[in-house]
Amino acid sequence: ISNLPFVYEALPMRVLFGVGTRSSARDEALRLGMSRVLILCGPAHEGVAGEISRELGDLHAGTYAGARMHTPVEVTEQALALARERRCDGIVAIGGGSATGLAKALALRTDLPQIVLPTTYAGSEMTPILGETKGGVKTTQRSAKVLPETVIYDVDLSMDLPVHLSGVSGINAIAHSVEALYARDANPIVAVLALESIRALVNALPAICADPHDRAARTGALYGAWLAGICLGAVGMSLHHKLCHTLGGSFDMPHAETHAVVLPHALAYNAPAIPEVMARLRDALGVDDVPAALYNLNRAIGAPRGLRELGMPEDGIDRCVELAVANPYWNPRPLERAQLHALLTRAYLGDAPS
Ligand code: NAD
Repeated sequence: ISNLPFVYEALPMRVLFGVGTRSSARDEALRLGMSRVLILCGPAHEGVAGEISRELGDLHAGTYAGARMHTPVEVTEQALALARERRCDGIVAIGGGSATGLAKALALRTDLPQIVLPTTYAGSEMTPILGETKGGVKTTQRSAKVLPETVIYDVDLSMDLPVHLSGVSGINAIAHSVEALYARDANPIVAVLALESIRALVNALPAICADPHDRAARTGALYGAWLAGICLGAVGMSLHHKLCHTLGGSFDMPHAETHAVVLPHALAYNAPAIPEVMARLRDALGVDDVPAALYNLNRAIGAPRGLRELGMPEDGIDRCVELAVANPYWNPRPLERAQLHALLTRAYLGDAPS
């Protein structure tokens, strides 16, 4: 056991996990004392939202299907107006991190209880963290108010997540677990969850790409994503997440794809400072070179090669390095300008990590 002494704090949450579990939404709403439920989702999930509204029956008070990535406050205000007009006393959110983010933004303002049904592997449903965008600036805060009361993982809801999104969203989850292993406030419980989640996802993602309807692989990926979400909510993140946050905020890059491209490079950067973590990762994955294995996993799941392909401007490398050095944060290896520049250049071009 390393990281002595450590602090472990479990977050209060109820989780249902299985196939077809979305049929429990009404019971869970009643359990939380909801009588007028607002359903939140993005345009892709209006059909599922209709199905859940029928399950909810007389508890259903309205649906808002305008959730968008990075939780713009204008969208939150529209949903909030509907919640007030319909006198809602609870929220059911269906979707990825965008729908969950909207639910959390409403909970922050109203303290309404939330039930979340995730459809991607982003893991936001497990965290007390909310990122919101106002006037093009994304800010993040932690508040117990935004933590969902109940999360219903239904493997069936993830079955039609398109293959390319499944892969990169799964790597986004692996990134939470990798950074949890070397967090400043790491602890042995979170390490167990992190390694288990990495193993589950590394096995499941190529299988999903080979056959998107492979229910066992979908189950493994959702299980791994759940555990990764717990890790993200439990301990602090460092270089990888900070770089992705800067890239997303500065260049409006897609969330999961950016995480997939950056992860092998961020881990290679930190590797010299975290020999014990690298040994555990090598052991868990059965490989000698973990950053190279993650880079190859990206190739296998068809992730974009580099940040250039995702639309990042080349002078963005300098801007990103300057932002990182100007607002230093804790990282196992100090932030060094030249090395960060080299890391981002490789990620930009799609080169292998080194
Ligand atoms: P998302 O929710 O925007 O979903 C990505 C796309 O996939 C959308 O177009 C969506 O409609 C579609 N989609 C989702 N599930 C689908 C399914 N099952 N079938 C078909 N299409 C589906 O993206 P995301 O990657 O899940 O979440 C990203 C957002 O979440 C970002 O804003 C990010 O900042 C936030 N996030 C927050 C936290 C946190 O702890 N606060 C954690 C992770 C992500």
